[in-house]
Amino acid sequence: MKYAGIIYDDTAAAPGLSLSFYTQGCPIHCPGCHNQDMWDFEGGYDFTPEVLNRVMDKLVENGVLRNLCIIGGEPLCKQNTEMTKMLCNCVRMAYPDIKIYVWTGYTLEELCEREQSEEDIHNILEDLDILIANPFDISKRDITLELRGSSNQEIYKFVTEEEFADGGKTFGFERPNVYYPYVIKGE
Ligand code: SF4
Repeated sequence: MKYAGIIYDDTAAAPGLSLSFYTQGCPIHCPGCHNQDMWDFEGGYDFTPEVLNRVMDKLVENGVLRNLCIIGGEPLCKQNTEMTKMLCNCVRMAYPDIKIYVWTGYTLEELCEREQSEEDIHNILEDLDILIANPFDISKRDITLELRGSSNQEIYKFVTEEEFADGGKTFGFERPNVYYPYVIKGE
């Protein structure tokens, strides 16, 4: 399991203060990707228990809760799902109030399909709060967008059944008993 780097106090990735964790390796290869140095699965650094412990400490350093932003590279390709799951599970258990953001080049439909057979994907989707999905499309590049690099990318907020409003069902991703995503783009 490899990661590319960590920004401990990041004010650019998401609203508020974040710890941004960059996974190493991406099989999607979007033309125009800004992080091409993170495509190589042989690059980066080993993800060790010491790194995980440091992330856990830094997320709450000085009593300030940060978001956890998991970016790539591709956090949800098969090579990286175990590491992403470990991060999400540890943070969700230790710090329930921390918001977890995950960026991926996969679509939500692809992830919903994969979670049927990949437990790690299922666990990640249970733990995260915000998913930014779809591959970067350079023809739709827009630097004014919040959280996204191109307008085809979608932001999904994952909510509990109790939080779920009826309107969310119109997006067609109703999921029994676990969680329901709905699009918050434009909020
Ligand atoms: S999925 Fe992300 S890291 Fe991978 S090529 Fe596309 S933009 Fe780059």
